[in-house]
Amino acid sequence: MTTEAQKTTASPTLPEATLVDFLETHPPGQFVQIPDLAIWASPDGFQSWYFSQPELQLHCTNERCNGIRVFRCVSGKIHLAGTQKYENEFVSYRCSNCQQETKVFALAMRREKDKGKGICYKYGEVPVFGPPTPSRLIKLIGPNRDVFLKGRNCENQGLGIGAFVYYRRVVENQKNRILEEIKKVLEKIHAKPDVISLLDQAITETQFSKAMGIAKDGIPESLLIDGHNPLGLLHSALSEGVHELTDEECLELAGSIRVVLTELSERLSQALKDEAELTKAVGKLLNRKK
Ligand SMILES: [Zn+2]
Repeated sequence: MTTEAQKTTASPTLPEATLVDFLETHPPGQFVQIPDLAIWASPDGFQSWYFSQPELQLHCTNERCNGIRVFRCVSGKIHLAGTQKYENEFVSYRCSNCQQETKVFALAMRREKDKGKGICYKYGEVPVFGPPTPSRLIKLIGPNRDVFLKGRNCENQGLGIGAFVYYRRVVENQKNRILEEIKKVLEKIHAKPDVISLLDQAITETQFSKAMGIAKDGIPESLLIDGHNPLGLLHSALSEGVHELTDEECLELAGSIRVVLTELSERLSQALKDEAELTKAVGKLLNRKK
């Protein structure tokens, strides 16, 4: 069996990502090879290599935006010397829509001699990495909010195993809250009684993986994510053995679990809301007939 340390010495190659991908989607705490770290430019008539400061698509929390917006670098030109040393820089971005919200990255960068590529390490970012946790998701997981946020903290710092274990606990503990919400959707769309009874069976089943197996067949189409069953997705991610995975693999899985949970909470709330709106609209039309 290979230990973590042996693996590191055996394959010293670092993961690779474009600068945009690195800044937008990589949590802090990883060394990554960046092919487009610097560009050759002459902002003051002096030709040299500068941090390439690409536009980013980030979540803006400003009430005028509240979604993904273009952020542009406002740090001015950052010269990257291309020595063997890492250069520490704070890089600031601002939302181009509201012109108010900012994102600051603390980076260590080492450009290769005579090349635009180099290695970059993210110490941290403010606001923290990733989109904010939506209130719908917090509502769905209810009493396990704090455990979930601990998982989020781990994910933000690149602690994959920690994030995975926290998220697994949330999903396993809150299985019944999630299943109850799915059942509500089935009742709203007047699903057949035998489909609804699948959810009841899953709720009374104490073994998580058995419960997921039963409930899987009762998922209404409106809750599918890209045509996939969200319970199936969560179940397969959670049944991966944490002992056989590297920290990076756990981090990736934890991120996927968070995205699926978020998406499921959005769809649940949409499905229940739509139906409420529809009932209201039908009621109004019926009243007019009278
Ligand atoms: Zn904005």
